[in-house]
Amino acid sequence: MSKVKMESYPAIIGGEKVNGKGTFEDLDPSTGQPFAEVARCGEAEINQAVEAAREAHEKTWRRTTPAERARVLHNIAELLRRDHEELARLESTDTGKPLTQTRADVAVAARYFEFYANTIESFYGDTIPTQQGVFAYTLREPFGVAAQIIPWNYPIQIGCRSVVPALATGNCCVMKPAEEAPLTPIKVGELALEAGLPPGVLNVVPGFGEEAGAPLSAHKGIDHLAFTGSLEVGQIVSRAAAENVIPVTLELGGKSPNVVFADADLDGAIPIVVNSIIQAAGQTCAAGSRLLVERRVHDEVLERVAERFKGIEIGPGLEDPDLGPIISEEQLERVDGYVQQGKGEAQLLAGGDRARGDRLGGGYFFEPTLFGGVSHSDRLAQEEVFGPVLVATPFDDPEEAAWMANATDYGLVAAVWTRDVSKAHHLAQEIRAGQVFVNTYGAGGGVELPFGGFKKSGHGREKGYEALYEYSQIKTVAIKY
Ligand code: NAP
Repeated sequence: MSKVKMESYPAIIGGEKVNGKGTFEDLDPSTGQPFAEVARCGEAEINQAVEAAREAHEKTWRRTTPAERARVLHNIAELLRRDHEELARLESTDTGKPLTQTRADVAVAARYFEFYANTIESFYGDTIPTQQGVFAYTLREPFGVAAQIIPWNYPIQIGCRSVVPALATGNCCVMKPAEEAPLTPIKVGELALEAGLPPGVLNVVPGFGEEAGAPLSAHKGIDHLAFTGSLEVGQIVSRAAAENVIPVTLELGGKSPNVVFADADLDGAIPIVVNSIIQAAGQTCAAGSRLLVERRVHDEVLERVAERFKGIEIGPGLEDPDLGPIISEEQLERVDGYVQQGKGEAQLLAGGDRARGDRLGGGYFFEPTLFGGVSHSDRLAQEEVFGPVLVATPFDDPEEAAWMANATDYGLVAAVWTRDVSKAHHLAQEIRAGQVFVNTYGAGGGVELPFGGFKKSGHGREKGYEALYEYSQIKTVAIKY
């Protein structure tokens, strides 16, 4: 039988579609089957991409006005909207995420282009009163070549989150998508060229972490690094950035709590609590992976969450179920490992195994899983499982709730559910996390909201107006007259 020809996806370097040193197969996690062939970049391609970005920066992009940059960014937003459905389907195939989620992701990606196109024209320095006879002002300048290393869970959204403010502030970019889901970032690179972005301003270099990510993060020609991914790799790329003395933005993991008080609107809270761990099959940095519940309503809340978990429809991403697959066999085994160990330590209230069935074929599916009676110090309550696994713990009062919310190394997101405004403000101040939501769970929130971690969830901020500061450096000019 002849082999079905898979679609090929190139690297994009200097405005050209380029082959890598070979190719690698990209798997559909809903079936476990390869469906695309992707350029495999190594050190040579990384060198070319950084050179192309440097040249584009010197020759064109740093000399453009904010208005000129805004025009191209608006054009790219339009093309993302034109190809919205195609991109969403590609993202669903590549990541296994349900179509409703990937449609939202593509819409958010387009919003990044629109938001930064709109804001860059009102982003400028200050004049500073100083000594008599001296006129002083500040300029906001790009770093030069900005590198972005992207994870597989939200390729188009996170890719655009990191690239667009960098482009808006006048940097040229070299983006390395994750090996498991590189396709929509490559498409964004192609659309950017179609929209009129000059060659070399945005380069996309798919490949493996060790082969492409490592030489990119350590490259002497990059001036800024934005990394989104695991704590372990974040530490590696931080060391490389420190060696080259360049700024690095780290968006790492989380173990984010939903804190539910007895006075909360439980009917409103429970569906959102469930969604916060089901979205992207729990493979979200901001997943609501811990459930802290006031003891008075603890049993009721757990019963209701377990009931909902049992009704969740599991299936391939393109069929738009509630819950899609885990990204790979390796991740599935990792999730399974945590859950099987948890069975010996906590009370299993729902799920607990790989999901199997006719529709699920060779895909990497796991049941939504709820554990009760998890102590805050258990591995399940401390480590990022990165799957649809929720662990619950009771608390007695607001002080204990705040203490438990803070009792991990991470500090990315937290949500507080209560009708008591004083309790809401108190917890919002006590919780050490980059984002605190009250009576909602925004995960990443809107593109306008600054996003980033406290503690080991990272440092630096992306999204919102804040990212314009992150991707630019200030220059002070003082003129004696
Ligand atoms: P990962 O393994 O750290 O990979 C992230 C990126 O780094 C990928 O592109 C990867 O390439 C690359 N990489 C791997 N080894 C590298 C090395 N030695 N040098 C340079 N780059 C290297 O993370 P992941 O498994 O893709 O993503 C899941 C993690 O990301 C979770 O911890 C999650 O919490 C975190 N995350 C955080 C945020 C946030 O905004 N805070 C958002 C999403 C995800 P390969 O794909 O080829 O390995």
